[in-house]
Amino acid sequence: MPKIISVQNLSVNYGAYLVLEAVNFEVAVGDYLALVGPNGAGKTTLVKALLGLLPYQTGTISILGEDRQGFNAWGKIGYLPQRAAAFNPLFPATVSEVVGLGLIAEKKFPKRLTSADREKIKQTLELLEISDLAGRPVGKLSGGQQQRVFLARSIVAGPELLILDEPSTALDPQTRNNFFDLLKKLNSESKVTIILITHDVGQVGRYASRLLYLDKTVIFYGKFSDFCESGDMSKYFGDYSQHLICHQHD
Ligand code: ADP
Repeated sequence: MPKIISVQNLSVNYGAYLVLEAVNFEVAVGDYLALVGPNGAGKTTLVKALLGLLPYQTGTISILGEDRQGFNAWGKIGYLPQRAAAFNPLFPATVSEVVGLGLIAEKKFPKRLTSADREKIKQTLELLEISDLAGRPVGKLSGGQQQRVFLARSIVAGPELLILDEPSTALDPQTRNNFFDLLKKLNSESKVTIILITHDVGQVGRYASRLLYLDKTVIFYGKFSDFCESGDMSKYFGDYSQHLICHQHD
């Protein structure tokens, strides 16, 4: 499989503080990668670097074969941040309008939706099974519904790569499962490569094909099954923690 991301020898520091050190990994097209690690491990920093939001001095990142610095990957990468920004109940925009923002952003002036854009919005709402919500004010929706709207906005431009940062912490278990099912569908049917930052490794092991455990540098990167069988990882985490990570997908 061709590579969608290649990170080589990446180090990032905030002032004198080294946050990422000699990080190396590659992501193949169609992978579903779970990015895990303790708080402060540098996961968000890594994602910011991948998104081109953070300059870095050491190492290289290439996305779709091009050097990240100076490469405008907008539209090719969808990003869904943590659900911190829930809509105010009085926020007046409809679901269709909010999803349309995912197309507006990459347009040059005049920023106007075409009929092809409206078709894309319609198809995305269908894919995420929220067509019935199209005309509803987004501020009036439940947390799970709003999360689907955010997801719709991040995929409406047809990205090849979707990066999600702990997207489901505020969701109840049922809504959360539905959300993960949806991501799996995007991955397997629409062939979108996924990188998911998560704390819930036990759950995500049922969906993701690969695990990247980051703690300043790459501690483990590979298939879930290899992680679960790795003696080195048993030593690193202890048998008990390894079991907690692995038991959901024996
Ligand atoms: P994670 O997402 O794994 O919790 P982060 O990438 O958010 O980790 O943070 C890694 C480390 O860098 C943490 O110790 C954090 O306090 C520090 N850090 C994050 N952002 C900044 C910043 N803008 N300036 C200084 N330190 C930062």
